[in-house]
Amino acid sequence: MGITLKNVSYTYQAGTPFEGPALFEVNLEIKDGSYTALVGHTGSGKSTILQLLNGLLVPTEGSVVIDDVKITSTSVNKDIKQVRRKVGLVFQFAESQIFDETILKDVAFGPQNFGVSKEDAERVAREKLTLVGISEELFERSPFELSGGQMRRVAIAGVLAMQPEVLVLDEPTAGLDPKGRFEMMEMFAQLQREKGITIVLVTHQMNDVSDYADYVIVCEKGTVVKTGTPEEVFADAAWLQEKQLGLPSTVQFVEKLKAKGFQTDARPMNLDALADLLVSHSKNGGDASAR
Ligand code: ADP
Ligand code: MG
Repeated sequence: MGITLKNVSYTYQAGTPFEGPALFEVNLEIKDGSYTALVGHTGSGKSTILQLLNGLLVPTEGSVVIDDVKITSTSVNKDIKQVRRKVGLVFQFAESQIFDETILKDVAFGPQNFGVSKEDAERVAREKLTLVGISEELFERSPFELSGGQMRRVAIAGVLAMQPEVLVLDEPTAGLDPKGRFEMMEMFAQLQREKGITIVLVTHQMNDVSDYADYVIVCEKGTVVKTGTPEEVFADAAWLQEKQLGLPSTVQFVEKLKAKGFQTDARPMNLDALADLLVSHSKNGGDASAR
């Protein structure tokens, strides 16, 4: 399911003395079935955009079009509820939203709240808990006995239990150890690949962007300043460095090589592509451009 933001501006507490403009005439498109990464400094508007994607916030101006539903400042609850069901939002530090007395009940809560029977909700909850790697013997235990990383998985299962078509993730791997991060990133990639779920990911990890994303959206001070494939966005290494947004390690490495006289226009997005570049360079007697 695709989502389009058309000239969206958003102001927190609009019309009060505390109003805080956060987004300014943002236009962007999330393509159906894609994996889109949203990057930018803290305060650039990423979390605000995510909340607009799932109807938690409605635009102050402009519109958000999700499938055949158009959300504007005057949208009615019925439309907004439909959007929330289709677009699942995993908040930053999602584990803090867990509240129920057992893991199973917590995950089944969402669907039950939308009118699904207890039995069906628990069946879906079991399935999603297994999918996120929580083993059966934990289902009846208190979520508060789990580690932070496991609790986050439970929270993600809770969002997946709503069977969303789009999964929107706000810095989901923040604070996890390397293994936990890798497993979680692989899980999102698998959801996209195998279940056809559209993924929107906010991250500061440029390696994750180059490894997983089909598209990148760069935000700055409440506006979108660049969009494209990772290859396109990371092509302008100098621009990204100037903005202090960082680069994937593979691109950093190639930039270092080029500074030392290595000639290439290749932009490897992962370690495999980088290794291929170096092997072809050495096979060509040191001239990577002669292929
Ligand atoms: P990011 O996720 O990129 O760090 P946010 O979308 O959280 O950015 O914030 C964008 C702007 O909106 C910032 O200036 C921030 O201070 C402001 N903002 C975010 N949440 C609120 C809120 N609940 N009330 C008022 N202002 C907010
Ligand atoms: Mg944020």
